[in-house]
Amino acid sequence: MSSPIDLIRRQVSDLHQELVRYNLVVWTAGNVSARIPGEDLMVIKPSGVSYDELTPDAMIVCDLDGTVVAGEHNPSSDTAAHAYVYRHMPEVGGVVHTHSTYASAWAARGEAVPCVLTAMADEFGAEIPVGPFALIGDDSIGRGIVDTLRGHRSPAVLMKSHGVFTIGKDAKAAVKAAVMCEDVARTVHISRQLGEPQPIAQADIDHLNHRYQNVYGQQTAPAAR
Ligand SMILES: [Zn+2]
Repeated sequence: MSSPIDLIRRQVSDLHQELVRYNLVVWTAGNVSARIPGEDLMVIKPSGVSYDELTPDAMIVCDLDGTVVAGEHNPSSDTAAHAYVYRHMPEVGGVVHTHSTYASAWAARGEAVPCVLTAMADEFGAEIPVGPFALIGDDSIGRGIVDTLRGHRSPAVLMKSHGVFTIGKDAKAAVKAAVMCEDVARTVHISRQLGEPQPIAQADIDHLNHRYQNVYGQQTAPAAR
């Protein structure tokens, strides 16, 4: 029988292929991680391994300080940022990072994506905010993600001059947010080419977000998300 860690290894491995399928990554950029429920552990992509070679066995298990517990490769160079998010946001079960094209174009300008589409109100409930410019190597990126997303409805942040980090209750939700982030960044970018996108009233954003997050879809329990 598969252990919980084996199941999470498989899930994280499979979800990396979604980043490829939705054209969110090139070469070895981008990564997905998942918290192992009930443990101070996470599963993350190995560093510098091509997407074609990612298998459940290749995934790395780290503690929440980013120290490798099991795995044959070095963990992703973004491990410290993922670990910082898990340490400081206990409700988060999955983290995704990409340099997806349109979202990163907004990040390069340091400009938040305004909430001008109903699909954005549904998934993000607000603008997609910009986080600080931060260099890899310490807790700066993780701190920037947490400081920007804590208390914000958006599960996505555009780290200035860098790319996207998304969070979710699990890794699948974080991947979904990364896919949706790129989709709306692209659409709003295109809209901008011929004029100024029209704002949506805050009350309507609130209504749409509440409905999507609490009522929409196949609910397994009242208020299930
Ligand atoms: Zn990056």
